[in-house]
Amino acid sequence: GAREIPTLAVEDVTVRFGGIVALDAVSFSVAPRSIHALIGPNGAGKSTCFNAVTGIYRPTSGRVTLGDAVLTDTPPHEVARLGVGRAFQNLALVGGSSVLDNVMLGRYSLTKGGFLSYGLRLPRTMKAERRHGERAAEICDFLGIGAHLHRPAGVLSYGDQKRVDIARALAVEPTVLLLDEPAAGMNASETADLARLIRDISEGLSISILLVEHDMGLVMGIADRVTVLDFGRLIADDTPAVVQKDPAVIRAYLGS
Ligand code: ADP
Ligand code: MG
Repeated sequence: GAREIPTLAVEDVTVRFGGIVALDAVSFSVAPRSIHALIGPNGAGKSTCFNAVTGIYRPTSGRVTLGDAVLTDTPPHEVARLGVGRAFQNLALVGGSSVLDNVMLGRYSLTKGGFLSYGLRLPRTMKAERRHGERAAEICDFLGIGAHLHRPAGVLSYGDQKRVDIARALAVEPTVLLLDEPAAGMNASETADLARLIRDISEGLSISILLVEHDMGLVMGIADRVTVLDFGRLIADDTPAVVQKDPAVIRAYLGS
């Protein structure tokens, strides 16, 4: 049967760094199975918001919830286990390791005992490892990198390495996938492929996607909803059609 997909809610979250207010009482929610974009000029607080959701930063106030689970004050590996998968702005692959091993790394957080029990090679663990390997291979097939499973991740094209990074984020079987500027460094045709891929993930895996992206064509083409930040404040939160015409949004972009 269909998995229940919870709402991800950012509730009145403020993050301060000394005198800088990186996020100022921001609230929005990502509806189940939606593609939700988080946009805004440089320094608006988008990455800070991702870091507050994934447990890397602790908000000064406010909280983040995923259904009934409170993600605030929860360590990153536990946030991942609760269903939040994250791909990174800068590729964080182990270039010398195989595509499969890179994706498997994403799955260790699902295993009780984690790295230690893998190191000990317990029979129970080896069975789990086989299952993890099969699932990792399935995810790679789904993302179109199944032919590269045993190649070093570092030799793949940039677009394929990006897919490995997304596969690793999907390997925790998330209910919400966070993508931080996935189109950065891509040309127009790679960006068009990426747009299709994001739609396929959303529909095929039936999960929510929260996306930070600069490429407005990509955002307006695939997002169900768009939240706009400027100087740490939420200035718009609506459908792409409405947000595109919002005077405050236009001003924020012209001013940057
Ligand atoms: P965006 O991702 O939208 O470009 P960021 O979230 O990276 O913006 O940054 C928002 C603001 O917070 C910026 O002024 C940035 O300099 C500041 N900031 C982000 N992370 C830190 C940090 N770890 N320490 C101090 N200031 C930070
Ligand atoms: Mg950023």
